[in-house]
Amino acid sequence: MARAYPLNKYRNIGIIAHIDAGKTTVSERILFYTGISHKIGEVHEGAAVMDWMEQERERGITITSAATTCFWTPARYTRLAKTDEERAKLKAEYEHRINIIDTPGHVDFTAEVERSLRVLDGGVTVFDGVAGVEPQSETVWHQADKYAVPRICFINKMDRMGASFEKSFNSIIDRLTPNAIPVQIPIGAEENFKGVIDVLEMKAFEFNGEHGEKIDEVEIPADLKTEAEKRHAQLIEKIVEHDEVMMEKYLGGETIPVADLRAVLRKATIANLLIPVFCGTALRNKGTQLMLDGVIDYLPSPIDINESKPIKGTDLATGAEVIRQPNDNEPLTAVAFKVATDPFVGNLTYFRVYSGIIKKGSYILNATKNNQERIGRIVRMHANHREDVEEMYAGDLGAIVGLKNTTTGDTLCNPETPIVLEAITFPEPVISLRIEPKTKNDQEKLGMALKRLSDEDPTFRVTGNSDTGETIIWGMGELHLEILVDRMKREFNVEANVGRPQVSYKETIKKDAEAEGKYIRQSGGKGQYGHAKIKLHPLEKGKGFVFVNQIKGGVVPQEYIAPIEKGVKEAMARGIVAGFPMTDVEVTLYDGSYHEVDSSEAAFKIAGSMAFQEGAKSASPVLLEPIMKVQVICPQDYLGDVTGDLSSKRGRIESLNDRGMMKVVDAMVPLSEMFGYATKLRSMTQGRGSFTMEFSSYEEAPKSIEQQVIEGKK
Ligand code: GDP
Repeated sequence: MARAYPLNKYRNIGIIAHIDAGKTTVSERILFYTGISHKIGEVHEGAAVMDWMEQERERGITITSAATTCFWTPARYTRLAKTDEERAKLKAEYEHRINIIDTPGHVDFTAEVERSLRVLDGGVTVFDGVAGVEPQSETVWHQADKYAVPRICFINKMDRMGASFEKSFNSIIDRLTPNAIPVQIPIGAEENFKGVIDVLEMKAFEFNGEHGEKIDEVEIPADLKTEAEKRHAQLIEKIVEHDEVMMEKYLGGETIPVADLRAVLRKATIANLLIPVFCGTALRNKGTQLMLDGVIDYLPSPIDINESKPIKGTDLATGAEVIRQPNDNEPLTAVAFKVATDPFVGNLTYFRVYSGIIKKGSYILNATKNNQERIGRIVRMHANHREDVEEMYAGDLGAIVGLKNTTTGDTLCNPETPIVLEAITFPEPVISLRIEPKTKNDQEKLGMALKRLSDEDPTFRVTGNSDTGETIIWGMGELHLEILVDRMKREFNVEANVGRPQVSYKETIKKDAEAEGKYIRQSGGKGQYGHAKIKLHPLEKGKGFVFVNQIKGGVVPQEYIAPIEKGVKEAMARGIVAGFPMTDVEVTLYDGSYHEVDSSEAAFKIAGSMAFQEGAKSASPVLLEPIMKVQVICPQDYLGDVTGDLSSKRGRIESLNDRGMMKVVDAMVPLSEMFGYATKLRSMTQGRGSFTMEFSSYEEAPKSIEQQVIEGKK
């Protein structure tokens, strides 16, 4: 077998948009025009091929990212082909493989967005032609900025009442970037939207046939001639700025060939210096194909992106930094970017190959977890079917069926050439809730559901107490947990009682202390005897728990040391101040005693636990609260209100900056003050403010807050 497409004919892209801009419809039309799906499915009828999860359809938001492959030969060439033979020739020369990585549009799923941004090379940002840039578009835009993802824009819904290309484009310039530049302008708007003028080539197109599949070149309408000329000149000026030789020719009055202009625009787009803007209406079948041409013309192949973002990792054998080339001849380097449960085949691990070849039947090393697994089956995901393949090459995206111990973000490689790529870092979950199965049967189902869901989602964690059967689940935000609970009910049929979301506090000590725990029972039969003396010492932030054994001369026999440690750990987990787990404590066992007959592991465990509780009380125990790194982006007019409100939430403003026309506020704010902030910010800024939030660290809570937590008021 050999690769079917050279790497420069790959485009790994994401459709990036806020909810409702039309991402699903655009993706669906792409699959239609590229011939993968043969039926146009309307989103509102629930038939869109990408949104196969029931829940997504109901909520109208996309919360899983699937990778879908399709093929495209630019319509620029194929629309001129007269015969099938001609078309086949063009295909052989110009057909590209496009892998679409589905990105969620909801900001609460930051981890989902970030993991997909990590594996894609370029993005199509979709806007609603009526609303233009919306607060949520700003959030997703800035996330893409963070990963320096080259982009093109598609102003969708040009057919809607109130649609305006001019207004939407200006909102991109004002709110997102001054580097956006139209490569098309619309012919008409709203119900009179007919097609587009390509202002690079200066050609006008209309979309005919049942589904707009016929692209007909028409005369540039007389009333748009001046506008088109103006945009053409602006575009050329913007392009030549990025190439000195071209600039000189242009200033010298030479006409520059379109192909040369396109090449420089491509380079500037890949370098994130220009952002070409397209328009159309996915729903009414106008413009999607030419936007796809834009994907091929302007977005990077894995080779292009490698120049600005090389594949760097750590060689596990030597500890040295290594760089891998996007090339089949290099050793295998792949990243698992999503683990999903598929209703038909079970466990699916989505991966992207960065270098080398991944082969069915071979053993790979999961270098992150340091275990080997055999690859039983590799599938290429199409929107409505999966294709079994023998191998996949550098640049490919696919899924392995049935991997057991691989989670999101793990590096997969050859066992002989172990490498770990920079891990995708996920923030610590800081909101929790209690979940209690209704029946014994539910308890079993719950266990299975929790395992599956936490395998899929690295920001979802589960802790539990096997004695009480109480289970606590942890996540990134209120909506995150709500959706997970919903999936448990729906996909796994678990009936459970669910508590209120709670901030995950912790506790620690501030002083040294000593204490003694003695557990002695002498009531008939065999007695109990356990005795431990310990010292407590506060550790640096983030050190967790350290246990030191200084027992000498067997005053406590070796077999009772571990039970004492276990007792200490259990007491730590229960906390002292308000029932939250203690952290950053060193416990030194330095003395104790035992009884020849009555001593037991159980007695020493209790003694350890008693000693810790006793000691922690006199070691100035305090409550720790999670502090969040919050970034608010808002127009200048609302800056005062936003910062005033953050201060009233015990927030510390760290910096104020400008981003385009917007102000960026960076602050540290306790999580407990941030419940309901999305609604508050929206009303405070008339919907123009947006924010992101991630965990920063645990800090000591003020006494007044500690008191409220103890009283159960916070
Ligand atoms: P998503 O939330 O970004 O995936 O957006 P959808 O694709 O689900 O679209 C949201 C709504 O906008 C649906 O009701 C679509 O039918 C509608 N829609 C999508 N594209 C267009 C368009 O080009 N024109 C009009 N008028 N409506 C559209």
